Amino acid sequence: MTISRRSLFGIGGAGLIGGIALFGPSMSRAREGRFEVTLSEAEWKKRLTPAQYAVLREGSTERSGSSPLDREHRRGVFVCAGCGLPLYSSQTKYDSGTGWPSFWKPLPNAVQTREEGFFPFRRTEVHCRRCGSHLGHVFHDGPRPTGLRYCMNGVAMKFVAA
Ligand code: FE
Repeated sequence: MTISRRSLFGIGGAGLIGGIALFGPSMSRAREGRFEVTLSEAEWKKRLTPAQYAVLREGSTERSGSSPLDREHRRGVFVCAGCGLPLYSSQTKYDSGTGWPSFWKPLPNAVQTREEGFFPFRRTEVHCRRCGSHLGHVFHDGPRPTGLRYCMNGVAMKFVAA
């Protein structure tokens, strides 16, 4: 009996594409339920604007330079737009030149990370520790002392002046 190479490759190819979809930019539904703040999709839609929902709950990315928080230079705290958890102090904010609000360190116990995608598109996703909402990504090209660049979506946060 001969199994055609094409049919085997076809099955493998479908698996590969499925894997990419699973680890792609949209958030896995399986993650829901293990966070302190857990809302239904309907509740999230009621609580958030469409732009906030797209980033926080669907993992999309705002247009570079579109958020006023990128140009926010006052002293204060940036909190999660989903649940209000304080995420970053203005003291760790810097101008990365990317058009997205950037920080070199989150507040203690504020965010969690998760590896996403495959080489050469592998990235580290950042989400809120309390509600699991997508915030942005972290890269290793930040300033001292951490060398990290937490590249955040401004629409995913609210600024509370000190
Ligand atoms: Fe949150």
